[in-house]
Amino acid sequence: MMKSKTIQMTKPKVGFYGITGCAGCLLSVIFNEDELLDLIELIDLKAFPFVKEVNPDDSFDFIFIEGLVADNDDLAVLKKLRANSKYLVALGACANTGCVPAYRNYSLKENYEHLLFKKQESIQDVKPTPVDEHVHVDHYIPGCPPDKKQILTFIKAIVAGRTPKKYDSPVCMECRQNGNACLLDAGKPCLGPITAGGCNSVCINGGFECWGCRGPTKDMNLELMIRILRQKGFDDKFIQDRMRTFIGLKLPMLERVMNAHNNP
Ligand code: SF4
Ligand code: SF4
Ligand code: SF4
Repeated sequence: MMKSKTIQMTKPKVGFYGITGCAGCLLSVIFNEDELLDLIELIDLKAFPFVKEVNPDDSFDFIFIEGLVADNDDLAVLKKLRANSKYLVALGACANTGCVPAYRNYSLKENYEHLLFKKQESIQDVKPTPVDEHVHVDHYIPGCPPDKKQILTFIKAIVAGRTPKKYDSPVCMECRQNGNACLLDAGKPCLGPITAGGCNSVCINGGFECWGCRGPTKDMNLELMIRILRQKGFDDKFIQDRMRTFIGLKLPMLERVMNAHNNP
């Protein structure tokens, strides 16, 4: 009895919460069918509104946040959870980069406000932004949705007191290791060269180009990527839209680089 009580006390207190998102990242945690029960054994799961009825929002070792800040309620929840947690983990592309919901930044307000904000006036529209624009983020788990094995590996690392490793090489590395024919050569607008891998090039393996959901690599060559896409016949509007879909807010230099390259 004494022994199990000691182990219990060393388990990290963990919470999973969602702000504005589609819940796909949280489902990636739950759908770890083979290992979910093992995982629950490793942590003290204090809160997971998807699966638990009672969900305290105070005093966590690790808080995992899915989603981006899209209204004032999101911001209030995020700030409270940050204040009550030792480490905050941005879970998935919305939390990491803003992802597809942040594309609203590039759209005219009259194109979307009637869909929600005019119907629900209690919702205060704010600029849709990833969580690190508002609070300090300790760890990032990228992807839309993140790979479920990656989430498990991350949790096992923190339970063991290790700093989880980041995968910084571009998607192209895994893609070539997987023996895929390059989709750029086939005329598809693949963003693999500027996108951080770690997904085992899952889209390309299935014949679809990379849209950049895991965020840009640290040392990406954006100019070269734009030049290649132009050479393949894609116009600037297409290139800009494609790059903004998942990572627009992480490419504040995009317009400048495109214009500079237009007027060398
Ligand atoms: S990152 Fe993708 S899966 Fe996760 S909440 Fe956003 S849209 Fe959904
Ligand atoms: S298909 Fe995409 S990810 Fe694969 S090598 Fe070509 S550019 Fe890179
Ligand atoms: S191939 Fe690209 S779009 Fe697909 S999961 Fe990997 S990073 Fe995301």
